[in-house]
Amino acid sequence: MSENRAEISQLGEFGLIDRISGNVALTQASTLKGIGDDAAVIDIGHEALLVSTDMLVEGIHFDLAYMPLQHLGYKSVAVNVSDIAAMNGKAEQITVSIALSSRFSLQAVDALYEGIRAACANYNIDLVGGDTTSSTSGLIISITVLGRAQKNRITYRSGAKANDIICVTGDLGAAFIGLQILEREKEVFLTDPNMQPDLENFEYLVGRQLRPEARTNIVYDLAELGVQPTSMIDVSDGLASELLHLAKNSKVGVRLFEDKVPVDQLTYNTAVEFNIDPITCALNGGEDYELLFTISQEDHEKLKNHPDIHLIGYMHDKIDQNIMITKQGNVVPITAQGWNHFRS
Ligand code: ADP
Ligand code: MG
Repeated sequence: MSENRAEISQLGEFGLIDRISGNVALTQASTLKGIGDDAAVIDIGHEALLVSTDMLVEGIHFDLAYMPLQHLGYKSVAVNVSDIAAMNGKAEQITVSIALSSRFSLQAVDALYEGIRAACANYNIDLVGGDTTSSTSGLIISITVLGRAQKNRITYRSGAKANDIICVTGDLGAAFIGLQILEREKEVFLTDPNMQPDLENFEYLVGRQLRPEARTNIVYDLAELGVQPTSMIDVSDGLASELLHLAKNSKVGVRLFEDKVPVDQLTYNTAVEFNIDPITCALNGGEDYELLFTISQEDHEKLKNHPDIHLIGYMHDKIDQNIMITKQGNVVPITAQGWNHFRS
């Protein structure tokens, strides 16, 4: 044991996952995709089973000072369903595991499950199992989602080709600004408990943080329009980080146009109020749970009139040249500063 202790923070979250996956061998013929995408892909005949897990930890992913337990339950399901959507699949079942400290009452658990049930009803999925244990440090929720897709419809992070068009759904950065507002109101409350939170004009932003939706409708729309995306990922860590995942896995480079990145007007104005560059919220904010995907040029016609899909750039063949053309016409490198739990 003479080896010097190495800190996880030196690797970061993605470096750590790479290190783990580098030492994992796949032996089952039915394992079509292991670590490294939004979900694992398992061969079950003419269709494939999709499996993904996401864990939410109190104090890291949520703060119960402003996160109602119903919303937390809903969100913890939605973020998992989002990973199945990112494979172009349909979620069907979840298992829910919780660790609770004695701080939590029966009513608290009821509220959490109320949200979980609401999400199950909305996404049309069944809660089929889980695990319950105690915790010394607050609440932990780990959800595993099972989904399904036709094998030829499954969309990996690795399929983008040079000249493919980069698309993103909805708008970006709102969840991050919503979090800034919640943090601000929490500070106000801690200083003067008589102050009521002032969230009235910020419902959209706060809602995007507290109760995000998985974009299951986009999977449906793509099928309806006859579009097979060439690569796809969901935006959990921020646009920059996810673009780099697609580029790295597909061995292409990204050319992104700042003026095409969809940022809602309220997000924009509030970011400016907070002295944050709005594009930074979109690039590095995270938790938007929109879908980021690429399509081949020939599918452009089919998607160009979709009201909720934005064409924001394209892929090119120069690997490691991931750039954004700013509104002023400058060329800046895209770097990922999204949620990296092991780096501050
Ligand atoms: P996402 O943001 O889509 O949830 P992550 O970045 O969390 O994806 O994970 C990337 C990949 O690494 C996924 O395939 C996930 O299953 C895998 N992964 C993450 N943590 C671990 C771990 N501790 N052991 C094995 N695989 C992991
Ligand atoms: Mg994902």
